Amino acid sequence: MIFCEVKNEDVYSAAVVGAGPAGSTAARFLSEMGHKVILIDRKEVVGIPKQCAEGLFGSCFPEFSTATGDFITGKARYLQVVFPNHASYRVRGDLYMLDRPSFDQHLLRLAERSGAEVVLGRKVENVDPESGEVHLKGGETIRAKTIIGADGPVSRVARSMGIRNRLVPAAQVEMTWPFDDAIYAYIDHDLGPHNSPTTHNSYSCWIFPKNERGTANVGCFGTVPTLERFISKYKIEGEVLEKNGGAIPLGLPPRLQQGRAVLIGDAGGLTNPFTGGGLYPAARSARIAADAIDWFLRGETKNIEYESRMRKDFVASDLHMKARDALADLSNDELCRLGTAMNGLVFPDLKFTASPWLV
Ligand SMILES: Cc1cc2nc3c(=O)[nH]c(=O)nc-3n(C[C@H](O)[C@H](O)[C@H](O)COP(=O)(O)OP(=O)(O)OC[C@H]3O[C@@H](n4cnc5c(N)ncnc54)[C@H](O)[C@@H]3O)c2cc1C
Repeated sequence: MIFCEVKNEDVYSAAVVGAGPAGSTAARFLSEMGHKVILIDRKEVVGIPKQCAEGLFGSCFPEFSTATGDFITGKARYLQVVFPNHASYRVRGDLYMLDRPSFDQHLLRLAERSGAEVVLGRKVENVDPESGEVHLKGGETIRAKTIIGADGPVSRVARSMGIRNRLVPAAQVEMTWPFDDAIYAYIDHDLGPHNSPTTHNSYSCWIFPKNERGTANVGCFGTVPTLERFISKYKIEGEVLEKNGGAIPLGLPPRLQQGRAVLIGDAGGLTNPFTGGGLYPAARSARIAADAIDWFLRGETKNIEYESRMRKDFVASDLHMKARDALADLSNDELCRLGTAMNGLVFPDLKFTASPWLV
C-alpha cells in the first residue's frame, strides 16, 4: 500500500519535473484547481530540438483542453498504410500536423497563465519520492507535497523510483515535400540491420507531410542506417532540411507511483505500443494525475490514487501490444500478400483503437 502523509504545509503542493506536453498540462490543471505548483525544466526553451513526427488526432485537443491554434502546420484526411510491395490501404481520419516547438511553448504559456511557477534552465538530478524533495543540479532543494515526473523517456524521477524505461530509438529527417492529403505508415520488416526485423513496433517507417510548410517528417523505428535504407528502397526524394530523432519508451514500467511521486507521459512509458504516439497518453495521464493529486491534497483520499486509475484507463495497451506482435510475426512475403489483399481499400473513421482492431 502506498501511504503519503502531508506533514509540512510550507511547501509546494506539487513539483512538476519536465515542461513537455505532459508536465505543462498537469501543472496547468493543478494550478487551475487552486494548488501551488512549480514546473521545472532543464531547457531554457522548451520543445527544441524537435523529437517528434508531429502527428496528432483531432480528438486529442480536448484532452489537452486547448483549441487548435497557429501551432498547426497541416491537416491530413487519410492514414495510408503501405506494404513492402507498395500495395496500400487507407483509413479516413481527422489528423493534424503540429509545429511541436510551438505546441510545447503554447502549453507552457497556458500553465504559466494559470499561475504555475515556471523555472527553466534548471536540471533535476533526483527526487526523494518519500519526503517530496526535488534536488536540482547546483545543490538547491525544492520541497513539495507531491511530485509529478514528466521528464520524458530517460526520466530522473523514474530512476529515483528505481525504474528504467524500455527505450526504442527513432531516427528522422525533415525534408521538402509536396502537398498531400495523407500521412503514411510503412510496414517493412527487411529494413533493419542485416535484414533483422525493425519491428519494435507495428510499422517500421513513416512520412508525415506538413502541408503549410511544404515539408514532411520522414522517420523510422531504428537508427540512421535503417532510415537511409528506407529512403533508398522507397526512392523518397526531397531536400533534407533537418535531422532529428529520439527515444520512444515502449511498455509500462512495473510501477507508476511511489510515495509522493507519480510518473506521467513518456516518463511513465505511456506511449501507444502500436504506434509509438505519446501525445494523447501525455495529456490523458496529466489529467488523471492532476485529479488524483487534487483529491489527495484536499484530504479526500489517504493515498494518491493514480496508478490504478491510469492502468485501467490505458486498456488500449494490451490490445495494441497484441496487434503489434501479430504484425511483427509476419514475414515480408506474408505482408506482401496481406497488402495485395487490402490494396485500394478505404476504411472510414480512424479512431484511437481502430488500427489494432483492423489487424
Ligand atoms: C522521432 C519521434 C517521433 C514521434 N512522433 C510522434 C507523433 O507523431 N505523435 C505522437 O503523439 N507522439 C510522437 N512521438 C512521441 C512524443 O514525442 C512523446 O510521447 C511526447 O513528447 C511525450 O511528452 P512528455 O511531456 O511526456 O515528454 P517530453 O516531450 O520528452 O518532455 C520532457 C521534458 O522534460 C524535460 N526534462 C528531462 N529531464 C529533465 C531533468 N532531469 N530536469 C528537468 N527537466 C527535464 C525535457 O527538457 C523536456 O522538456 C515521437 C517521438 C519520437 C522520438
